[in-house]
Amino acid sequence: MELIRGDNLSKTYNLKLSLTKSIKVKAVENVSISISKNEVFGLVGESGSGKSTLGRLILLMEKPDSGRVFFNGVDLSKAKKDEVKEARRKMQIVFQNPDLSLDPRMKIYDTLKEALECCKYKGNITERIKAVLEEVGLSSETINMFPHHLSGGMKQRVALARAILAEPDFIVLDEPTSALDVSVQAQILNLLIELRKKLNLTYLFISHNLSVVSYVSDRVGVMYLGKLVELGECDEVFNEPLHPYTKLLISSVPTLYMTKKFFTQNHAITAENGEESVSGCRFFKRCPYAKDLCREKEPELVGDRHKVACHFA
Ligand code: SF4
Repeated sequence: MELIRGDNLSKTYNLKLSLTKSIKVKAVENVSISISKNEVFGLVGESGSGKSTLGRLILLMEKPDSGRVFFNGVDLSKAKKDEVKEARRKMQIVFQNPDLSLDPRMKIYDTLKEALECCKYKGNITERIKAVLEEVGLSSETINMFPHHLSGGMKQRVALARAILAEPDFIVLDEPTSALDVSVQAQILNLLIELRKKLNLTYLFISHNLSVVSYVSDRVGVMYLGKLVELGECDEVFNEPLHPYTKLLISSVPTLYMTKKFFTQNHAITAENGEESVSGCRFFKRCPYAKDLCREKEPELVGDRHKVACHFA
């Protein structure tokens, strides 16, 4: 059953280059995704591909230029203020760097209390905070500490606690493990998997790390320059990628997915081969399989369960 859907979402930013010159950057262009209840949807792509912007558009942290967001079947662009407020409480986010998302001057208790007050919690605040801290693997003494008393992993657990205090249905995890040591990354990933089962959560998991995404996700979407170029079941996309860009991403993972065949096929695709094309397929200048049609016509994302945007996939 569908929990959240973004329909034809687009967002363009005005990027100032100097006092007189600015350019328009299409961060997200006409992207649609649908995530089912209790599903983990992974979103991968290079930096600047629009993954985080898409996450923020879905959470209504940014207003899309066009497109709509549906939560539990309700079109949030047409919903009443109260409905939007309630939907936003049910949708939370965990950012990449807990050092930036936690106020260094506030004790953990105050940070978490603020989150509870925002959602007008009626019960015993201290008890609730202690219970949630325990749920994310922290002791109740943590409430008296400041962020600088905690390790990176502990801070990310606090950020996670703050997200689940509001009893959300849906959490956007925006590179939640990228700022952590590898050993701690595994602990946080296992905690996320555990919490998903226990609290019946749905995740949009954003990362540039394919191994991490493949570990936690049910389905995955691959973004390139603001567009989804491939989408499907995680195993299918990673084991049998259809889009040349997905193949490039996978071939750049050193051990898990790289096969000799992949490497031989894709060694010629490098970032230096060009920038995005202005018309036609965005991957045109980097793609070794490009033909004239690719320069002229932009491919649509087509397919049934496994979708791809490539004329010759
Ligand atoms: Fe390459 Fe053409 Fe496919 Fe684009 S449409 S990915 S240029 S083959």
